[in-house]
Amino acid sequence: MDTLDPGDPTSISRSVTAWFERLHGRSALGVFAAPGRVNLIGEHVDYNGGLCLPMALPHATYAAVGRRAGDTVTVASRQQHDTPFTGRVAELGPGSVTGWAAYAAGVLWALREDGWDLPGMDITVDSRVPVGAGLSSSAAIECSVALGAAELSGVAVDDEVRASLVRACMRAESEVAGAPTGGMDQTIALFGEAEAALLLDCRDWSTRQVHWDPASAGLTLLVVDTRASHSLSDGGYESRRRDCETAAAELGVDLLRDVVDQDSALASLGDERVRRRVRHVFTEIERVRRAVDELEADDFETLGATMTASHVSLRDDYQVSCAELDEVVDTALRHGALGARMTGGGFGGSAIALVPDDRLQEVAAAVQQAYSERGWEAPGFLTALPSAGARRLA
Ligand code: ADP
Ligand code: MG
Repeated sequence: MDTLDPGDPTSISRSVTAWFERLHGRSALGVFAAPGRVNLIGEHVDYNGGLCLPMALPHATYAAVGRRAGDTVTVASRQQHDTPFTGRVAELGPGSVTGWAAYAAGVLWALREDGWDLPGMDITVDSRVPVGAGLSSSAAIECSVALGAAELSGVAVDDEVRASLVRACMRAESEVAGAPTGGMDQTIALFGEAEAALLLDCRDWSTRQVHWDPASAGLTLLVVDTRASHSLSDGGYESRRRDCETAAAELGVDLLRDVVDQDSALASLGDERVRRRVRHVFTEIERVRRAVDELEADDFETLGATMTASHVSLRDDYQVSCAELDEVVDTALRHGALGARMTGGGFGGSAIALVPDDRLQEVAAAVQQAYSERGWEAPGFLTALPSAGARRLA
């Protein structure tokens, strides 16, 4: 099995600063890294005020950031071969930046909206997070740039500042890049810790680190990039969100999380589709609570079953899975995974499987085989060791 290498942070940061120096003829202030993520469990509950349990990947995005005379901002990315983005710091808002640069420049706009006095700057970016695979390369670029901008502005980055960076990155993604986002991705990118998953309460944004070290239990969390992204389902996220909002209004609550008597709430909903959506949200939030207990008890067999139940609910009630995700999950389970599920928004993207180390090769080979039998483009694999959140590297 070929897995996507997260690379050595020191050598990646050396290469991204060397590129900065070649482009700009001077040194960067520093290199700032922010990770991609997988969500262990708790899907499509963030915008319902629910609970989720993401963890940071060892795969990260690296931004070299340096002061530039005047008020111009430039952003160059190794993952984008077009000419670097150039704009004036006061003119980076919604509508004035399009394409990939919106994810970086949008953060600077959002920080200015918060009253930050940002200088001109140059930014060069390189990443080991696969782009568009549902592993949140978008939050990784946002958060690496946000951390760099903060240090460049002389702000001491404590937890309170990190929380404000989360909000700025969310605004960048939803208002400048135009992609709705619930906040989980930015929170784990900025607050992740090694050997931990982060229990995130999306109603009050409180967090708690939950110890999670699969390696010491002889387990690997295998991530499979399905390579699928079903454009037919483009409106899928929005329509799910709308169903939840409709239901919340009908039930007289701000957020589905706030419903107290879930059984009678479900019984009272007239629309069968909406009822299924809500049932997913209710049961998924409960599964996150159970998953935390199972992690804390090192009960990985039961944790696996909880993950699989999450997939079934996303497939049947929330209806955001697809043939590729189902194939990966079913194949992994048949070949010894303790549990498996889609992760991220769905309709493609990635799946995760909790696999005993001695079954890892078998699971990966079986997934590869299933893909080739179906005539699908080969999937990508990576292993997810719970890793550190956004940080300064050099
Ligand atoms: P995901 O976050 O799951 O990878 P998204 O569609 O949310 O997928 O975000 C992917 C987009 O983020 C890319 O299309 C690009 O616009 C931007 N992006 C992510 N990483 C980079 C990068 N390293 N360089 C430039 N743009 C990036
Ligand atoms: Mg994203």
